[in-house]
Amino acid sequence: MGVKLPVKLEFQKFRGGDKVFLKLQCPECGAVNIVYNKASTVVTCRVCGAVLARPTGGKALIRGTVLEVLQ
Ligand SMILES: [Zn+2]
Repeated sequence: MGVKLPVKLEFQKFRGGDKVFLKLQCPECGAVNIVYNKASTVVTCRVCGAVLARPTGGKALIRGTVLEVLQ
């Protein structure tokens, strides 16, 4: 897909795929969350509640470190 992992994002769109799930490490507590790349609601960390994704109507704005792309 042309994207080297891990990649750190700060409320940016992840360009490595469209309808994919991301294994995303929370920037606050380090917990690993599974986040849909086109999330339609705000996604928060399951451990600390930090905001990890904001919806845009298309690809979400992602915050954290993408460790892996899950098809
Ligand atoms: Zn967290």
